[in-house]
Amino acid sequence: MGFKSKARKNRGETSKVALKDKDSEVYEGQIKCDIIECNNWADKIIGGRKMSYNRAVEVWGTSGVSRKVGKVSLCKTCYRSWKKEKKGEPKQWTSKSSGPLGNAPNSIPVRSFDQP
Ligand SMILES: [Zn+2]
Repeated sequence: MGFKSKARKNRGETSKVALKDKDSEVYEGQIKCDIIECNNWADKIIGGRKMSYNRAVEVWGTSGVSRKVGKVSLCKTCYRSWKKEKKGEPKQWTSKSSGPLGNAPNSIPVRSFDQP
């Protein structure tokens, strides 16, 4: 397992890869989750997500995010907990009028984050 998705990643990945040492022993991830208390990989192929720093800070606080960059990387688990947190508080996304999708009132427009 892993080979197929890896190949796919290599094609899909554009620029921002691995700024850190390649200490890949357990899982060959390249992107670390930027949440300090978390040690997971945030590679896309295992469900990682990119998110703007400000949004991450809303949940973890400035001291909970390890890097202050425009977009931080979240592992699947952290992204989930972020989503959970955000669901609790009605914010700007609660405009349930419309989206391009139309049929998913609860979905956060995650897609826009993914695209460079
Ligand atoms: Zn994480």
